[in-house]
Amino acid sequence: MKRFVEGDDRKQVALLPECVDDYIGEDNPVRIVDVFVDELDLAELGFNGTTPAITGRPSYHPGVMLKIYIYGYLNRVPSSRRLERECQRNVEMMWLTGRLTPDFKTIADFRRDNGAAIRNVCRRFVELCRGLKLLASDTVAIDGSKFKAVNSRDRNYTAGKIDKRQQQIEESVQRYLDMIETADRTNPIGFDVKTVRLYEKIARLRQRMRELEQIKKQLKTQPDGQLSLTDPDSRSMTSGGKRTGTVGYNVQAAVDTKHHLIVEHEVTNIGSDQGQLSTMALSTKNAMGKPKLKVLADRGYYSGPDILACELVGIKTYVPKPLTSASRKKGLFTKRDFVYVARNDEYRCPAGERAIRRFTTVEHDMTLQVYWPSACPRCHLKGRCSPSDYRRIRRWEHEHILEAMQRRLERKPDAMTIRRSTVEHVFGTLKHWMGATHFLTRTLGRVSTEMSLQVLAYNLKRVMNILGVAATIKAMRMAET
Ligand code: SF4
Repeated sequence: MKRFVEGDDRKQVALLPECVDDYIGEDNPVRIVDVFVDELDLAELGFNGTTPAITGRPSYHPGVMLKIYIYGYLNRVPSSRRLERECQRNVEMMWLTGRLTPDFKTIADFRRDNGAAIRNVCRRFVELCRGLKLLASDTVAIDGSKFKAVNSRDRNYTAGKIDKRQQQIEESVQRYLDMIETADRTNPIGFDVKTVRLYEKIARLRQRMRELEQIKKQLKTQPDGQLSLTDPDSRSMTSGGKRTGTVGYNVQAAVDTKHHLIVEHEVTNIGSDQGQLSTMALSTKNAMGKPKLKVLADRGYYSGPDILACELVGIKTYVPKPLTSASRKKGLFTKRDFVYVARNDEYRCPAGERAIRRFTTVEHDMTLQVYWPSACPRCHLKGRCSPSDYRRIRRWEHEHILEAMQRRLERKPDAMTIRRSTVEHVFGTLKHWMGATHFLTRTLGRVSTEMSLQVLAYNLKRVMNILGVAATIKAMRMAET
Protein backbone atom coordinates (compact mmCIF):
# COMPACT_ATOMS: atom_id res chain seq x y z
CA MET A 1 0.00 0.00 0.00
CA LYS A 2 1.40 3.44 -0.95
CA ARG A 3 1.65 6.02 1.87
CA PHE A 4 3.16 9.43 2.63
CA VAL A 5 5.09 10.48 5.70
CA GLU A 6 2.49 12.05 7.98
CA GLY A 7 3.07 15.31 9.90
CA ASP A 8 1.68 16.01 13.36
CA ASP A 9 -1.68 17.62 13.90
CA ARG A 10 -1.08 21.31 14.64
CA LYS A 11 -3.95 21.38 17.11
CA GLN A 12 -2.36 18.61 19.12
CA VAL A 13 -1.58 19.67 22.69
CA ALA A 14 2.06 19.61 23.84
CA LEU A 15 3.37 19.27 20.29
CA LEU A 16 6.59 21.10 21.18
CA PRO A 17 9.14 19.85 23.67
CA GLU A 18 8.98 21.50 27.07
CA CYS A 19 12.40 23.05 26.83
CA VAL A 20 13.79 25.27 24.00
CA ASP A 21 17.20 23.67 24.53
CA ASP A 22 15.75 20.36 23.25
CA TYR A 23 15.49 21.95 19.80
CA ILE A 24 19.16 22.84 19.64
CA GLY A 25 21.33 19.83 18.93
CA GLU A 26 24.74 19.50 20.58
CA ASP A 27 26.40 20.07 17.20
CA ASN A 28 24.36 23.15 16.30
CA PRO A 29 26.66 26.07 15.29
CA VAL A 30 24.51 28.47 17.32
CA ARG A 31 26.11 26.96 20.44
CA ILE A 32 29.50 28.23 19.23
CA VAL A 33 28.14 31.77 18.90
CA ASP A 34 26.78 31.54 22.42
CA VAL A 35 30.01 30.26 23.97
CA PHE A 36 32.22 32.63 21.99
CA VAL A 37 30.31 35.75 23.08
CA ASP A 38 29.91 34.56 26.68
CA GLU A 39 33.67 34.15 26.98
CA LEU A 40 34.40 37.72 25.71
CA ASP A 41 35.18 40.62 28.01
CA LEU A 42 32.80 43.04 26.32
CA ALA A 43 33.79 46.08 28.40
CA GLU A 44 37.46 45.58 27.53
CA LEU A 45 36.58 45.24 23.86
CA GLY A 46 34.86 48.64 24.03
CA PHE A 47 31.12 47.86 23.97
CA ASN A 48 28.76 50.51 25.31
CA GLY A 49 26.26 49.67 28.04
CA THR A 50 28.00 46.68 29.64
CA THR A 51 27.01 48.14 33.05
CA PRO A 52 23.27 48.80 33.28
CA ALA A 53 22.09 52.34 34.11
CA ILE A 54 20.44 52.80 37.49
CA THR A 55 17.54 54.76 36.06
CA GLY A 56 15.51 54.62 32.85
CA ARG A 57 14.20 51.76 30.80
CA PRO A 58 16.33 48.57 31.01
CA SER A 59 18.46 48.13 27.91
CA TYR A 60 19.48 44.95 26.11
CA HIS A 61 22.81 43.50 27.17
CA PRO A 62 25.44 44.08 24.45
CA GLY A 63 26.26 40.36 24.55
CA VAL A 64 22.73 39.53 23.39
CA MET A 65 22.91 42.08 20.57
CA LEU A 66 26.32 40.80 19.49
CA LYS A 67 25.00 37.22 19.44
CA ILE A 68 22.12 38.34 17.22
CA TYR A 69 24.52 39.91 14.74
CA ILE A 70 27.02 37.04 14.67
CA TYR A 71 24.19 34.55 14.22
CA GLY A 72 22.71 36.77 11.48
CA TYR A 73 25.95 37.06 9.52
CA LEU A 74 26.62 33.34 9.92
CA ASN A 75 23.23 32.64 8.37
CA ARG A 76 23.34 35.37 5.73
CA VAL A 77 20.79 37.57 7.48
CA PRO A 78 22.65 40.87 7.90
CA SER A 79 19.70 43.28 7.73
CA SER A 80 18.36 44.64 11.03
CA ARG A 81 14.73 44.34 9.87
CA ARG A 82 15.18 40.70 8.93
CA LEU A 83 17.00 40.03 12.21
CA GLU A 84 14.03 41.50 14.10
CA ARG A 85 11.77 38.98 12.32
CA GLU A 86 14.18 36.12 12.99
CA CYS A 87 14.16 36.95 16.72
CA GLN A 88 10.38 36.49 16.69
CA ARG A 89 10.12 33.27 14.69
CA ASN A 90 13.45 31.45 14.65
CA VAL A 91 13.86 28.80 17.37
CA GLU A 92 17.67 29.02 17.26
CA MET A 93 17.45 32.78 17.76
CA MET A 94 14.97 32.29 20.64
CA TRP A 95 17.43 29.89 22.24
CA LEU A 96 20.32 32.31 21.72
CA THR A 97 18.60 35.43 23.06
CA GLY A 98 16.35 33.90 25.72
CA ARG A 99 13.34 34.86 23.58
CA LEU A 100 14.20 38.53 23.56
CA THR A 101 12.83 40.42 20.58
CA PRO A 102 14.57 43.78 20.11
CA ASP A 103 13.15 45.94 17.34
CA PHE A 104 15.12 46.63 14.16
CA LYS A 105 16.08 50.15 15.25
CA THR A 106 17.71 48.85 18.44
CA ILE A 107 19.51 46.18 16.42
CA ALA A 108 20.74 48.67 13.81
CA ASP A 109 21.79 51.21 16.45
CA PHE A 110 23.91 48.59 18.19
CA ARG A 111 25.93 47.98 15.00
CA ARG A 112 26.22 51.72 14.36
CA ASP A 113 27.29 52.65 17.91
CA ASN A 114 29.71 49.79 18.56
CA GLY A 115 31.71 49.72 15.32
CA ALA A 116 35.17 49.80 16.92
CA ALA A 117 34.21 47.14 19.49
CA ILE A 118 32.78 44.82 16.80
CA ARG A 119 36.02 45.17 14.84
CA ASN A 120 37.89 44.24 18.04
CA VAL A 121 35.76 41.09 18.33
CA CYS A 122 36.87 40.08 14.85
CA ARG A 123 40.50 40.57 15.89
CA ARG A 124 39.85 38.66 19.12
CA PHE A 125 38.67 35.67 17.10
CA VAL A 126 41.89 35.75 15.05
CA GLU A 127 43.83 35.74 18.35
CA LEU A 128 41.77 32.75 19.43
CA CYS A 129 42.65 30.95 16.18
CA ARG A 130 46.28 31.74 16.85
CA GLY A 131 45.93 30.26 20.35
CA LEU A 132 44.39 27.13 18.80
CA LYS A 133 47.47 26.80 16.52
CA LEU A 134 45.32 27.31 13.45
CA LEU A 135 47.64 30.02 12.12
CA ALA A 136 50.67 27.76 12.05
CA SER A 137 51.48 28.47 8.41
CA ASP A 138 54.35 30.87 7.74
CA THR A 139 52.80 32.08 4.47
CA VAL A 140 49.85 34.34 3.69
CA ALA A 141 48.32 35.54 0.44
CA ILE A 142 47.21 39.16 0.21
CA ASP A 143 44.70 40.44 -2.29
CA GLY A 144 42.08 43.13 -2.69
CA SER A 145 38.62 43.14 -4.19
CA LYS A 146 36.07 45.85 -4.97
CA PHE A 147 32.77 45.65 -3.09
CA LYS A 148 29.77 47.71 -4.15
CA ALA A 149 28.65 50.55 -1.90
CA VAL A 150 25.16 51.92 -1.38
CA ASN A 151 25.77 54.43 -4.18
CA SER A 152 24.76 53.96 -7.79
CA ARG A 153 27.08 54.90 -10.63
CA ASP A 154 24.68 57.72 -11.57
CA ARG A 155 25.20 59.36 -8.18
CA ASN A 156 28.98 59.34 -8.43
CA TYR A 157 30.55 62.29 -10.25
CA THR A 158 33.88 63.29 -11.70
CA ALA A 159 34.58 66.39 -13.79
CA GLY A 160 34.72 64.19 -16.93
CA LYS A 161 31.36 62.54 -16.19
CA ILE A 162 29.67 65.92 -15.62
CA ASP A 163 31.06 67.34 -18.89
CA LYS A 164 29.81 64.28 -20.76
CA ARG A 165 26.33 64.53 -19.22
CA GLN A 166 26.10 68.25 -19.89
CA GLN A 167 27.01 67.64 -23.51
CA GLN A 168 24.32 64.92 -23.77
CA ILE A 169 21.74 67.29 -22.23
CA GLU A 170 22.65 70.07 -24.66
CA GLU A 171 22.26 67.66 -27.58
CA SER A 172 18.86 66.52 -26.27
CA VAL A 173 17.67 70.11 -25.77
CA GLN A 174 18.72 70.98 -29.32
CA ARG A 175 16.92 67.90 -30.66
CA TYR A 176 13.68 68.86 -28.86
CA LEU A 177 13.94 72.47 -30.08
CA ASP A 178 14.32 71.20 -33.66
CA MET A 179 11.23 69.01 -33.17
CA ILE A 180 9.24 72.02 -31.85
CA GLU A 181 10.33 74.09 -34.84
CA THR A 182 9.21 71.34 -37.23
CA ALA A 183 5.87 71.09 -35.40
CA ASP A 184 5.42 74.90 -35.65
CA ARG A 185 5.99 74.78 -39.38
CA THR A 186 3.56 71.94 -39.99
CA ASN A 187 0.91 73.21 -37.55
CA PRO A 188 1.28 76.99 -37.09
CA ILE A 189 -2.04 77.46 -35.21
CA GLY A 190 -1.55 77.03 -31.42
CA PHE A 191 0.22 74.33 -29.31
CA ASP A 192 -0.58 70.66 -29.68
CA VAL A 193 -0.10 68.14 -26.85
CA LYS A 194 3.19 66.89 -28.28
CA THR A 195 4.73 70.36 -28.31
CA VAL A 196 3.68 70.97 -24.70
CA ARG A 197 5.39 67.73 -23.69
CA LEU A 198 8.55 68.77 -25.52
CA TYR A 199 8.62 72.09 -23.61
CA GLU A 200 8.22 70.16 -20.35
CA LYS A 201 11.12 67.89 -21.26
CA ILE A 202 13.30 70.88 -22.07
CA ALA A 203 12.43 72.47 -18.71
CA ARG A 204 13.41 69.26 -16.89
CA LEU A 205 16.70 69.06 -18.78
CA ARG A 206 17.51 72.70 -17.94
CA GLN A 207 16.80 71.99 -14.28
CA ARG A 208 19.16 69.00 -14.49
CA MET A 209 21.77 71.24 -16.08
CA ARG A 210 21.55 73.63 -13.12
CA GLU A 211 21.92 70.71 -10.68
CA LEU A 212 25.03 69.56 -12.52
CA GLU A 213 26.50 73.05 -12.25
CA GLN A 214 25.98 72.89 -8.48
CA ILE A 215 27.64 69.48 -8.28
CA LYS A 216 30.54 70.82 -10.35
CA LYS A 217 31.10 73.50 -7.71
CA GLN A 218 31.04 70.92 -4.89
CA LEU A 219 33.42 68.71 -6.87
CA LYS A 220 36.09 71.43 -6.78
CA THR A 221 36.28 71.02 -2.98
CA GLN A 222 37.01 67.27 -3.23
CA PRO A 223 40.73 66.45 -2.97
CA ASP A 224 40.50 63.38 -5.22
CA GLY A 225 38.13 64.94 -7.78
CA GLN A 226 35.24 62.54 -7.06
CA LEU A 227 31.90 63.09 -5.40
CA SER A 228 29.49 60.37 -4.29
CA LEU A 229 26.09 61.67 -3.20
CA THR A 230 24.59 58.66 -1.37
CA ASP A 231 27.65 57.28 0.41
CA PRO A 232 30.15 60.16 0.50
CA ASP A 233 33.12 57.86 1.28
CA SER A 234 32.59 55.47 -1.63
CA ARG A 235 34.65 55.90 -4.77
CA SER A 236 34.42 54.78 -8.36
CA MET A 237 37.12 52.18 -9.00
CA THR A 238 37.85 49.84 -11.88
CA SER A 239 38.83 46.21 -11.51
CA GLY A 240 39.71 43.14 -13.50
CA GLY A 241 40.12 45.00 -16.80
CA LYS A 242 36.42 45.99 -16.83
CA ARG A 243 35.67 49.19 -18.71
CA THR A 244 33.01 50.36 -16.27
CA GLY A 245 33.91 51.06 -12.66
CA THR A 246 32.33 49.89 -9.43
CA VAL A 247 31.30 52.58 -6.98
CA GLY A 248 32.38 51.01 -3.75
CA TYR A 249 35.26 50.11 -1.47
CA ASN A 250 38.49 48.20 -1.94
CA VAL A 251 38.64 45.43 0.66
CA GLN A 252 42.11 44.07 1.42
CA ALA A 253 42.51 40.65 3.00
CA ALA A 254 45.42 38.48 4.12
CA VAL A 255 44.60 34.76 4.16
CA ASP A 256 46.81 32.01 5.59
CA THR A 257 47.74 29.33 3.08
CA LYS A 258 47.12 26.33 5.37
CA HIS A 259 43.62 26.78 6.80
CA HIS A 260 42.48 29.67 4.60
CA LEU A 261 41.51 31.83 7.56
CA ILE A 262 41.33 35.60 7.09
CA VAL A 263 44.09 36.85 9.36
CA GLU A 264 43.76 40.54 8.59
CA HIS A 265 41.44 42.71 6.57
CA GLU A 266 41.06 46.38 5.84
CA VAL A 267 38.41 48.40 4.01
CA THR A 268 39.76 51.33 2.01
CA ASN A 269 38.34 53.70 -0.57
CA ILE A 270 41.58 53.76 -2.54
CA GLY A 271 41.01 52.14 -5.92
CA SER A 272 44.52 50.73 -6.38
CA ASP A 273 46.24 47.89 -4.52
CA GLN A 274 49.61 49.51 -5.08
CA GLY A 275 51.01 50.97 -1.88
CA GLN A 276 48.94 48.71 0.40
CA LEU A 277 51.33 45.75 0.65
CA SER A 278 53.57 46.78 3.55
CA THR A 279 50.71 47.98 5.80
CA MET A 280 48.73 44.78 5.27
CA ALA A 281 51.80 42.53 5.57
CA LEU A 282 52.99 44.18 8.79
CA SER A 283 49.59 44.01 10.53
CA THR A 284 49.26 40.37 9.40
CA LYS A 285 52.67 39.55 10.86
CA ASN A 286 51.65 41.14 14.17
CA ALA A 287 48.31 39.32 14.18
CA MET A 288 50.05 35.99 13.57
CA GLY A 289 52.78 36.75 16.12
CA LYS A 290 55.52 35.45 13.84
CA PRO A 291 59.09 36.75 13.68
CA LYS A 292 59.20 35.91 9.96
CA LEU A 293 56.51 35.73 7.33
CA LYS A 294 56.19 35.00 3.61
CA VAL A 295 53.68 37.07 1.66
CA LEU A 296 52.28 36.23 -1.77
CA ALA A 297 50.60 39.00 -3.77
CA ASP A 298 49.80 39.75 -7.41
CA ARG A 299 51.46 42.24 -9.75
CA GLY A 300 49.13 45.03 -8.64
CA TYR A 301 51.07 45.25 -5.35
CA TYR A 302 54.51 45.60 -6.92
CA SER A 303 56.16 48.63 -5.34
CA GLY A 304 59.87 48.98 -4.49
CA PRO A 305 59.40 51.00 -1.27
CA ASP A 306 56.70 48.56 -0.06
CA ILE A 307 58.85 45.51 -0.73
CA LEU A 308 61.78 47.21 1.03
CA ALA A 309 59.58 48.06 4.05
CA CYS A 310 58.55 44.38 4.29
CA GLU A 311 62.15 43.16 3.97
CA LEU A 312 63.26 45.43 6.83
CA VAL A 313 60.82 43.77 9.26
CA GLY A 314 61.54 40.17 8.24
CA ILE A 315 58.74 39.70 5.68
CA LYS A 316 59.73 37.90 2.48
CA THR A 317 57.56 39.04 -0.39
CA TYR A 318 56.65 37.16 -3.58
CA VAL A 319 55.27 39.73 -6.01
CA PRO A 320 55.76 39.39 -9.79
CA LYS A 321 56.89 42.45 -11.70
CA PRO A 322 54.17 44.08 -13.84
CA LEU A 323 54.57 43.74 -17.60
CA THR A 324 54.10 47.43 -18.30
CA SER A 325 57.44 48.35 -19.85
CA ALA A 326 57.08 51.15 -22.44
CA SER A 327 60.11 49.69 -24.31
CA ARG A 328 58.38 46.30 -24.60
CA LYS A 329 55.32 47.94 -26.17
CA LYS A 330 57.56 49.63 -28.73
CA GLY A 331 59.36 46.34 -29.46
CA LEU A 332 62.62 47.57 -27.89
CA PHE A 333 64.93 45.80 -25.44
CA THR A 334 63.61 45.98 -21.88
CA LYS A 335 65.58 46.34 -18.67
CA ARG A 336 65.51 42.56 -18.30
CA ASP A 337 67.80 42.31 -21.33
CA PHE A 338 70.51 44.19 -19.41
CA VAL A 339 72.54 42.15 -16.92
CA TYR A 340 73.81 43.81 -13.77
CA VAL A 341 77.38 42.95 -12.84
CA ALA A 342 77.56 43.67 -9.11
CA ARG A 343 81.33 43.20 -8.91
CA ASN A 344 81.98 46.22 -11.15
CA ASP A 345 78.70 48.06 -10.47
CA GLU A 346 77.85 48.16 -14.17
CA TYR A 347 75.40 46.64 -16.67
CA ARG A 348 76.21 44.36 -19.64
CA CYS A 349 73.97 45.43 -22.53
CA PRO A 350 72.53 43.11 -25.28
CA ALA A 351 75.43 44.09 -27.56
CA GLY A 352 77.87 43.00 -24.85
CA GLU A 353 78.96 46.57 -24.10
CA ARG A 354 79.64 47.88 -20.57
CA ALA A 355 77.08 50.43 -19.31
CA ILE A 356 78.92 52.26 -16.57
CA ARG A 357 77.49 54.38 -13.77
CA ARG A 358 77.23 58.04 -14.75
CA PHE A 359 75.27 59.96 -12.12
CA THR A 360 72.75 59.75 -9.27
CA THR A 361 69.27 61.26 -9.35
CA VAL A 362 66.13 61.28 -7.19
CA GLU A 363 62.75 60.47 -8.75
CA HIS A 364 59.51 59.90 -6.79
CA ASP A 365 61.52 59.94 -3.54
CA MET A 366 63.73 57.09 -4.79
CA THR A 367 67.48 57.48 -5.24
CA LEU A 368 68.43 56.10 -8.66
CA GLN A 369 71.82 55.45 -10.31
CA VAL A 370 71.90 56.05 -14.07
CA TYR A 371 74.08 53.95 -16.42
CA TRP A 372 74.79 53.92 -20.15
CA PRO A 373 77.49 52.59 -22.50
CA SER A 374 79.70 54.89 -24.55
CA ALA A 375 79.27 52.63 -27.59
CA CYS A 376 75.57 53.41 -28.25
CA PRO A 377 75.91 55.87 -31.19
CA ARG A 378 77.79 53.32 -33.34
CA CYS A 379 75.95 50.18 -32.16
CA HIS A 380 74.40 47.85 -34.78
CA LEU A 381 71.51 47.04 -32.36
CA LYS A 382 70.56 50.66 -31.76
CA GLY A 383 67.32 50.38 -33.76
CA ARG A 384 66.10 47.74 -31.27
CA CYS A 385 67.39 49.59 -28.22
CA SER A 386 66.70 53.31 -28.02
CA PRO A 387 65.70 56.26 -30.21
CA SER A 388 67.97 58.50 -28.06
CA ASP A 389 71.70 58.86 -28.51
CA TYR A 390 72.38 56.66 -25.50
CA ARG A 391 70.27 53.97 -23.84
CA ARG A 392 70.00 54.89 -20.18
CA ILE A 393 69.42 52.26 -17.50
CA ARG A 394 68.13 53.36 -14.10
CA ARG A 395 68.87 51.38 -10.96
CA TRP A 396 67.23 52.01 -7.60
CA GLU A 397 69.64 52.05 -4.64
CA HIS A 398 67.73 49.04 -3.14
CA GLU A 399 67.29 47.20 -6.45
CA HIS A 400 69.15 44.15 -5.05
CA ILE A 401 66.09 43.52 -2.83
CA LEU A 402 63.84 43.37 -5.90
CA GLU A 403 66.36 41.09 -7.65
CA ALA A 404 66.46 38.79 -4.62
CA MET A 405 62.65 38.64 -4.68
CA GLN A 406 62.71 37.75 -8.39
CA ARG A 407 65.13 34.88 -7.63
CA ARG A 408 62.79 33.68 -4.83
CA LEU A 409 59.90 33.69 -7.26
CA GLU A 410 61.91 31.65 -9.77
CA ARG A 411 62.69 29.07 -7.06
CA LYS A 412 58.96 28.86 -6.21
CA PRO A 413 57.18 28.62 -9.55
CA ASP A 414 53.82 27.70 -7.95
CA ALA A 415 53.73 30.84 -5.77
CA MET A 416 51.04 32.56 -7.83
CA THR A 417 48.94 29.38 -8.08
CA ILE A 418 49.02 29.09 -4.27
CA ARG A 419 48.13 32.80 -4.00
CA ARG A 420 45.15 32.39 -6.31
CA SER A 421 43.80 29.27 -4.69
CA THR A 422 44.23 30.75 -1.20
CA VAL A 423 42.73 34.21 -1.35
CA GLU A 424 40.52 34.56 -4.42
CA HIS A 425 37.83 32.07 -3.39
CA VAL A 426 37.54 33.88 -0.05
CA PHE A 427 36.36 37.02 -1.82
CA GLY A 428 34.06 34.90 -3.99
CA THR A 429 32.49 33.37 -0.87
CA LEU A 430 32.08 36.73 0.90
CA LYS A 431 30.46 38.33 -2.15
CA HIS A 432 28.16 35.35 -2.60
CA TRP A 433 27.06 35.65 1.03
CA MET A 434 26.58 39.39 0.77
CA GLY A 435 24.46 39.13 -2.40
CA ALA A 436 24.42 41.39 -5.43
CA THR A 437 24.14 44.65 -3.48
CA HIS A 438 27.08 43.88 -1.15
CA PHE A 439 27.26 46.53 1.61
CA LEU A 440 24.13 47.64 3.45
CA THR A 441 25.64 50.54 5.39
CA ARG A 442 27.23 53.82 4.34
CA THR A 443 30.51 55.61 5.13
CA LEU A 444 33.87 54.02 5.68
CA GLY A 445 33.58 53.35 9.43
CA ARG A 446 30.23 51.55 9.21
CA VAL A 447 31.23 49.64 6.12
CA SER A 448 34.37 48.47 7.98
CA THR A 449 32.19 47.22 10.83
CA GLU A 450 29.98 45.35 8.39
CA MET A 451 33.03 43.77 6.77
CA SER A 452 34.40 42.73 10.17
CA LEU A 453 31.15 40.88 10.89
CA GLN A 454 31.37 39.14 7.52
CA VAL A 455 35.00 38.19 8.17
CA LEU A 456 34.16 36.94 11.66
CA ALA A 457 31.34 34.80 10.25
CA TYR A 458 33.66 33.45 7.54
CA ASN A 459 36.39 32.58 10.06
CA LEU A 460 33.88 30.98 12.45
CA LYS A 461 32.62 28.76 9.64
CA ARG A 462 36.16 27.80 8.66
CA VAL A 463 37.06 26.87 12.24
CA MET A 464 33.84 24.83 12.59
CA ASN A 465 34.73 22.98 9.39
CA ILE A 466 38.29 22.34 10.57
CA LEU A 467 37.65 21.36 14.22
CA GLY A 468 33.94 20.50 14.34
CA VAL A 469 31.40 22.17 16.62
CA ALA A 470 32.08 20.23 19.83
CA ALA A 471 35.87 20.60 19.59
CA THR A 472 35.54 24.31 18.79
CA ILE A 473 33.37 24.92 21.86
CA LYS A 474 35.79 22.97 24.03
CA ALA A 475 38.78 24.83 22.60
CA MET A 476 37.07 28.21 23.15
CA ARG A 477 36.35 27.42 26.78
CA MET A 478 39.89 26.18 27.36
CA ALA A 479 41.40 29.20 25.62
CA GLU A 480 39.57 31.58 27.92
CA THR A 481 40.42 29.78 31.17
S1 SF4 B 1 72.33 50.84 -28.24
FE1 SF4 B 1 73.73 51.01 -26.54
S2 SF4 B 1 72.78 49.94 -24.88
FE2 SF4 B 1 71.71 49.37 -26.74
S3 SF4 B 1 72.64 47.48 -27.34
FE3 SF4 B 1 73.70 49.10 -28.41
S4 SF4 B 1 75.42 49.64 -27.12
FE4 SF4 B 1 74.03 48.42 -25.92
